[in-house]
Amino acid sequence: MPPMTLTLETTAYTEDQLAHKDVPQIALAGRSNVGKSSLINTIAGRRRTLAKVSATPGKTRSINYYRVEPGGFFIVDLPGYGYAKCSKSERAKWAKLTQTYLTRTPELRGVAVLLDCRLEPQRIDIDLVDYCRSQKLPVLPVLTKADKCKQRDRARTRKAWSLLLGDAAPLFFSSFTGEGVDELWDAIREATAD
Ligand code: GDP
Repeated sequence: MPPMTLTLETTAYTEDQLAHKDVPQIALAGRSNVGKSSLINTIAGRRRTLAKVSATPGKTRSINYYRVEPGGFFIVDLPGYGYAKCSKSERAKWAKLTQTYLTRTPELRGVAVLLDCRLEPQRIDIDLVDYCRSQKLPVLPVLTKADKCKQRDRARTRKAWSLLLGDAAPLFFSSFTGEGVDELWDAIREATAD
């Protein structure tokens, strides 16, 4: 496979800025600080240049459309959710933006839900997975920071998540070691293939 390139093409802060792209898309969603920006930089083969890795969580407030080549499809980075320190109205605004994107994007093929492998399933993650299912959107679970989850603990981790995820087998991913990069690309390519 040739190396995949990601180019940030559009950024939407409000619903009327949501872009209409007539090509398949896969969304990335996850709680703030789950490692989403690091994952984007890692799969793009870059270090801290494409998506901003935040020292302060809760900073990504926009929906970012990354064009992927070869393929021409989009990876769409949704705002991190569940950041405790932001105001209720700000949270409501992001939720609305995300919901509008998820419900009004016919080209959306699935949602990669990023989950911190060190944590138990959290209510807010469960709600997101349930919401995707209610919208008939395939969920691709990605357990981030896998370098923190020893091989011998993985079966237990998988089991803890399987209650929430059912048949969708989670993929272990680490931006620090590069684990899961190829598998994630395979899953994204498969989801966005015609
Ligand atoms: P975002 O808020 O979801 O975009 O998360 P970031 O990518 O900004 O990362 C949040 C924090 O988690 C930072 O301190 C990162 O260094 C750390 N982090 C991100 N990816 C990994 C990973 O694969 N392994 C470990 N151990 N830490 C990570």
